[in-house]
Amino acid sequence: MQYTLSYWERETFYRDIDIAVIGSGIVGLTAATHLRTLDPTLRVVVLERGALPVGASTRNAGFACFGSMTELLDDMQIMSEDEVLTIVEKRWRGLQCLRALTGDAQIDFQMLGGYEMFTGEESAVFQQCAERIPDFNQKMGRITGHSEVYRVVDERLPEFGFQGAEHLILNQAEGQVHTGKMMAALLQKALESGVRIFNGFEIKQLEDSSQGVEIETTAGWTLRVPRVLVAVNGFARQLLPTLDVQPARNQVLITHPIPGLPVKGCFHYDRGYFYFRNIDGRILLGGGRNLDFEKEKTTDFGTNELIRKALTELLHTVICPGREVAIDTWWTGILGLGPVKKPIIQRVSPNVTVAVRLSGMGVAIGALVGREGAELAL
Ligand SMILES: Cc1cc2nc3c(=O)[nH]c(=O)nc-3n(C[C@H](O)[C@H](O)[C@H](O)COP(=O)(O)OP(=O)(O)OC[C@H]3O[C@@H](n4cnc5c(N)ncnc54)[C@H](O)[C@@H]3O)c2cc1C
Repeated sequence: MQYTLSYWERETFYRDIDIAVIGSGIVGLTAATHLRTLDPTLRVVVLERGALPVGASTRNAGFACFGSMTELLDDMQIMSEDEVLTIVEKRWRGLQCLRALTGDAQIDFQMLGGYEMFTGEESAVFQQCAERIPDFNQKMGRITGHSEVYRVVDERLPEFGFQGAEHLILNQAEGQVHTGKMMAALLQKALESGVRIFNGFEIKQLEDSSQGVEIETTAGWTLRVPRVLVAVNGFARQLLPTLDVQPARNQVLITHPIPGLPVKGCFHYDRGYFYFRNIDGRILLGGGRNLDFEKEKTTDFGTNELIRKALTELLHTVICPGREVAIDTWWTGILGLGPVKKPIIQRVSPNVTVAVRLSGMGVAIGALVGREGAELAL
């Protein structure tokens, strides 16, 4: 839909903006709220293309996770141990920021633990993890304050009834949130702080100059503001093509309620490429991007039949074997990834700052990235 702004629209709604945050995901909303905390006189707007945020924040699995053992060991193949521990620490601190901002009850935060599951074929990987537990517990203890974060809990396997699982490592400090309630709470916090949120506001292009940033909308009209914070994660290259952010799609399913469901907690399977949890007496299951990496490097919310098939099979054969389980619905979301698991929080031109590339850990790290982005954008 192409149109020009009326005088009323321009003078009433879009006047006197000090800073525009693009994107109303976890990062955009926490950044906007933090800007108002830093300076309550600042006129902050959030510009969001969707009726609701449409990226990852309303579509994720709600794992409040800061690192399972294979994930950390894999990360240490491409980053130094210090860098990996720095990211773990930021994820932990990010979770504390999120919880302090919203309150645990508002987001249904529960520390039910995170479990990493290993099949018989993964016994070498399991052994490698098990040997590192004392060392990792010492390091994670310093970050989280928990004396024993990781523990082998193979004795719990019969209780869950998984097929083919031979080992389980529990992360006692991992939690989970209700993603929908978390986003509703963050929207509410932003509005209460005096942030104005405009939905249906899709930005085509940004042009930074000494007069400020010209924001061109897909509707054809433009708006000039002094400063912009870009928080569009997986969609970053559509606005800033040189940023090293790769979009990556993730498929998710949720079942109908399963009477007597024994699964409680967040579960990581196949080095974290698959993940599942309990929610409202159902199983939420997602992942499988590794089965079709190239096709999943997309900002398109479509589906992938190969991955759907694999998720369906995993649900029926491994997670809920021998039970009648029906799938309620499917959806997809878009992540922003890079060569290393590290967000980009940086000023890219005099008046434009970015806070993107959450690398699949935005529930945990997002509130901290939002705060850091806000501080840099000021
Ligand atoms: C299926 C799935 C499962 C996940 N599970 C977990 C998990 O369990 N734990 C965890 O920690 N992380 C998880 N993540 C990752 C986490 O959800 C993200 O890291 C986080 O939500 C990113 O937040 P964000 O605010 O940076 O980006 P987004 O939530 O993607 O927000 C970006 C916003 O920008 C808007 N936007 C984009 N382009 C424009 C434009 N041109 N104009 C205006 N607006 C625009 C979009 O509509 C969107 O609302 C998962 C992600 C997915 C997809």
